[in-house]
Amino acid sequence: MNRVKNYINGCWTEPQNNDYLDIENPSTGEVIGQVPLSTKEETIKAILAAEAAFPSWRDTPVSRRADYLYSLLNLVEKNEEKIARSITLEMGKSISDSKAEFKRLYENIQTACGMPVLQQGDKLIGASFGIDGEVILQPIGVFGMIAPFNFPAMVPFWFLPYALATGNTYVLKPSEQVPLTMNLITQLIHETGFPAGVYNMVNGDKTVGEVLTSHPSVKGVSFVGSTAVARTIAQECGRNGKRYQAMGGAKNHMVVMPDAKKDEVVRNMLTSCFGCAGQRCMAASAIICVGEDTYNEIKEKFIRAAKQFPTGNPNDPVYEKTDMVGPVISARAKQRIHTLIEEGIAEGATLALDGRNVKVAGSPNGHYIGPTIFADVKPGMKIHRTEIFGPVVVMMKAGHLDEAIAIINNLNYGNGASIYTQNGYYARKFKLETDAGMIGINVGIPAPVAYLPFGGMKDSSFSETKAQGRDVIGFFTDRKIVTERYWNED
Ligand code: NAD
Repeated sequence: MNRVKNYINGCWTEPQNNDYLDIENPSTGEVIGQVPLSTKEETIKAILAAEAAFPSWRDTPVSRRADYLYSLLNLVEKNEEKIARSITLEMGKSISDSKAEFKRLYENIQTACGMPVLQQGDKLIGASFGIDGEVILQPIGVFGMIAPFNFPAMVPFWFLPYALATGNTYVLKPSEQVPLTMNLITQLIHETGFPAGVYNMVNGDKTVGEVLTSHPSVKGVSFVGSTAVARTIAQECGRNGKRYQAMGGAKNHMVVMPDAKKDEVVRNMLTSCFGCAGQRCMAASAIICVGEDTYNEIKEKFIRAAKQFPTGNPNDPVYEKTDMVGPVISARAKQRIHTLIEEGIAEGATLALDGRNVKVAGSPNGHYIGPTIFADVKPGMKIHRTEIFGPVVVMMKAGHLDEAIAIINNLNYGNGASIYTQNGYYARKFKLETDAGMIGINVGIPAPVAYLPFGGMKDSSFSETKAQGRDVIGFFTDRKIVTERYWNED
């Protein structure tokens, strides 16, 4: 049995109590390991180790801190295949999706390796008579991260390499549903030889998360997960005087204009809506077609293509290089999605493609739902308002672009939104007027590369600092402004 440990102060540690949760392979329902539900005391131990490691890590030259990240980059590159297979095993996305996730992890480490340049401040000679002004970016102390299940490797790396490169120390809590991949990567971090206490990992559920948001030695927390928990994290961190990033759920729309390249749109819809079984925070899950003809054409083409899109066990070698729908994360998630589908039918939407009875040969206990499409959905129906987080899409009609933008802006979520058009006027209007943090123009999954910021608006993000790239450096540093003067020597 693969029993995950914690990593505290440079050592792998056995959890104090004997409280474990089973880790499941969602593709088969098999138990593949156990994760400890760590205690408050163990979490505090990790925080104190990080606090003790901070002064000398802060004083380590930034180029040396980047050297550790270069070593990690080499190690993760050598282990790409292992990391991708671990993601697929515990989360259920296809191997090609896991490799794409790995690429983002890699790019984020690469970007953080540029910290000797990125962490430079500003200096103004002659701010006044004989006075110079200087802005310096200093690390702050211990930071925590609470991760979701859908990107076991990538999401922690939206923050972790930047926190370490800027001179802070870290405590990570992986999702208890998918702890194996970060366990593997933590072993690589250990082999890199970071000084003890600089990076720590504590496994568990919200007990661990609650200590991170309340302990006075933690200076800031990055959270990614559902909106309900994101809101709690923002409130707790605010109450306790901590910095926070709290990124929540999503309901991402795709608007298809009459002049869009329809075949390309449908190809993008398949991978955006059904890849990762719809469990990407950037997955499109609501399609708005502008005009009756556009709606009819896209609906017909999309349903035909979705019927051909395979649902299966992503660990099966036949899917090695294929886009496909794997399982959703758990029996509980599958049940929740089934309930939402029943509610959609009850509120009068047309279930144009029903994936509920899909069978995957050889994996009778996997948590599969095939591509599912609702047509004739009215804005504001529960299946439109709710983040379903499964391979379920709602299709709607709008008379014109303003109406489509209003449908999007009336929802509380604002993560991503895409428009399909060849017309620059429509694209520009959409980009300026749509309330979403990440906009796609003829792009189905408008997730920015690691060198650009990542983050939503409204209930998809409760802080103004986005993840990754240059933006996140502001979260991990204090800008200190120095005004200096020297008197003339006699
Ligand atoms: P979740 O909110 O259930 O759990 C996320 C993490 O929070 C887990 O590690 C969990 O143990 C912890 N947690 C739960 N309650 C807590 C509490 N009260 N205090 C502290 N920690 C607590 O989310 P999930 O189901 O793992 O992930 C899916 C969600 O994440 C979806 O809503 C998805 O849209 C969202 N997500 C958003 C983004 C984004 O960029 N906005 C990216 C990825 C995922």
